[in-house]
Amino acid sequence: MRQKTSLIPTLRTVSEAEMISHQLLLRAGYMRQVAAGVYSFLPLGQRVLQKIIDVVRDELNRAGAQELLMPALNPAELWQESGRYNTYGPELVKLQDRHGRDFILGPTHEETITDLVRGEVNTYKKLPMTLYQIQTKFRDEKRPRSGLLRGREFLMKDAYSFHADRESLDQTYEELYQAYVNIFTRLGLNFRAVEADAGAIGGKGTHEFMVLSDAGEDTIATCEACDYAANIEMAEVIYKEQTHEQSSIPAPEKVDTPGKKSIEDVSSFLNLPSNQFIKSLFFIVDEEPVLVLVRGDHEVNEVKVKNLLDASVCELADEETVRRIAGVETGFVGPVGLKEKVKIIADQAVQSIADGVMGANLVDTHLVHVQPKRDFTVDQYADIRQIQEGDACPRCGGMIQFERGIEVGHVFKLGTKYSEAMNANFLDANGKEQPFIMGCYGIGISRLVAAIIEQHHDENGMIWPINVAPFAVHLIAVNMKKDEQATIAEGLYEKLTKAGIEVLFDDRFERAGVKFKDADLMGIPVRITVGAKASEGMVEIKLRRTGESAELAHEDVLKDLP
Ligand code: ATP
Ligand code: MG
Ligand code: MG
Ligand code: MG
Repeated sequence: MRQKTSLIPTLRTVSEAEMISHQLLLRAGYMRQVAAGVYSFLPLGQRVLQKIIDVVRDELNRAGAQELLMPALNPAELWQESGRYNTYGPELVKLQDRHGRDFILGPTHEETITDLVRGEVNTYKKLPMTLYQIQTKFRDEKRPRSGLLRGREFLMKDAYSFHADRESLDQTYEELYQAYVNIFTRLGLNFRAVEADAGAIGGKGTHEFMVLSDAGEDTIATCEACDYAANIEMAEVIYKEQTHEQSSIPAPEKVDTPGKKSIEDVSSFLNLPSNQFIKSLFFIVDEEPVLVLVRGDHEVNEVKVKNLLDASVCELADEETVRRIAGVETGFVGPVGLKEKVKIIADQAVQSIADGVMGANLVDTHLVHVQPKRDFTVDQYADIRQIQEGDACPRCGGMIQFERGIEVGHVFKLGTKYSEAMNANFLDANGKEQPFIMGCYGIGISRLVAAIIEQHHDENGMIWPINVAPFAVHLIAVNMKKDEQATIAEGLYEKLTKAGIEVLFDDRFERAGVKFKDADLMGIPVRITVGAKASEGMVEIKLRRTGESAELAHEDVLKDLP
């Protein structure tokens, strides 16, 4: 591709982007923002996306999955059948057609695929079957500020598997897990697979693939002593509180230490404008930490009681997170009678705060309990997992370490969650009707573009791993007005291109400094510079990553390409 006529609008600076990947994608001319969380991929960005897709597709096909393509626009009825039309939350993009019929733009496609398969597959003889697509998803994310890491429209690979029995699901899960390991390895990523929280998709048995990076929103807990690794929502939430970045909770007001507060003070403290919002608090009640979710009207929705670290009172994040931690989808779920007990506890807590008894804790929470805890023991940590999953974690007694990570992939054993809700059945070997046992497997294709950059850059720009680089070679003619340079460069461009090597040819009439700066920014792995020494027939080859360079006769170029 010739740069002179290419759409690669590089910028020296950008103001709006916080994340390195976001800055570099804009500066290097890989993408442009259309609206918050909505981007156009320019030619370089599109090429990287396609490289990632090639790798993903190759590994998925090898694992026996079949590619199809489902629509983004889906009838609300499907989501009503599964129940998620009402429980998915404000990320779900809802719209109506001209006849007033309700639709959604798919944030994920369990419903659509379950509907398809229940119509087309009805016998165990067809199973197992894994179907996947690479398709645009829509999620009206609260704060889409991190560029491709969190888009409102983004590209995902989503796969769904259908099985006659659990063993078959376990096997496919293993195979796709391995495919994910292959994919992220081929993409040049330093990643870790961790135990995950089932979230709104539901089901047990789930792993996330985390790209290790300080830019990540997730916190991964790993045990020093055993191979335990998990995504820890708690630390994530506390971290968010600390940075005040992602939390829906406004930055804490500084309330003066203890002293009496009027019930109105406390009410206004607990009350938040949105009626969707549930305020969550940890209280110590009878020496037991209690998680209480309080609606704006103080109606208490749910609670989990457990020895939750040594937290006295601590604020959590938004409703979704809390629901995920509590392991419920909506409303109050818990033993009969607990709701009533919780209401009393919460009422007492509100009263105690008003009386100043718990005020100090509440204030302390805001001012003090914002330090991420870095030294949980596995035992303490297991309590968090218990709250998340309803059962205990490994307890080897080791210390837990934390790292930040970007979730780039997620595999779930769904079981019969969707097939039962949507009445999707097959006939088993005995002619008996059974609900499909399902798994689902996502990869954030567009997020990966950013995640790779987060791990592969330096102060001058991107440094693409060869498998995903938009071009393998950046050929730069320093001065196109010099005949010998133009001739050698044109010759190399033709030769390399004919050899099947993807070359970006900087044939612009720009100053050398501009060309080199742009090249560093774009991060193409191998640079061939045709400069002053072209008069002696010499060119320079340089590796973007290491800066290593060598001079050689232009005729020898192909021999020396890595
Ligand atoms: P997150 O925790 O980051 O919000 P998620 O758990 O909601 O992600 P999944 O439902 O597991 O996401 O979707 C599968 C994959 O899609 C994720 O692992 C992630 O790589 C990608 N993904 C999810 N949300 C976004 C987004 N808003 N922008 C880009 N990629 C996304
Ligand atoms: Mg999400
Ligand atoms: Mg997640
Ligand atoms: Mg996920």
